Amino acid sequence: MEKSNKHITWQGENCLLCKYFIPNDVLNADLLERGKCAHPSLVRFNLVVSGRDWCNLFSEMSDGRREKLIQEGYKKDDEQQKKLIEESKKIGNFD
Ligand code: SF4
Repeated sequence: MEKSNKHITWQGENCLLCKYFIPNDVLNADLLERGKCAHPSLVRFNLVVSGRDWCNLFSEMSDGRREKLIQEGYKKDDEQQKKLIEESKKIGNFD
């Protein structure tokens, strides 16, 4: 696997580390991006939460799930970057 210069800090006991948090963009889920709460008793409210939010239904995400989310975020980011590079090669796309 290619080395990455990206770094993510995952805080504890807020939505960012809760197993019910579904971020829109996992790499920016701390402050910059919003996500949804999938807790069975809250999901009907269609809550929009950030990684820094929290509630008393917090339940810690497993290390395995956290690592899987981060790797998926890196993969999605790399794919977006490759697509952007390809798009930038097409002269006129930015007119
Ligand atoms: S609102 Fe509560 S249950 Fe939902 S993701 Fe945040 S801490 Fe977890």
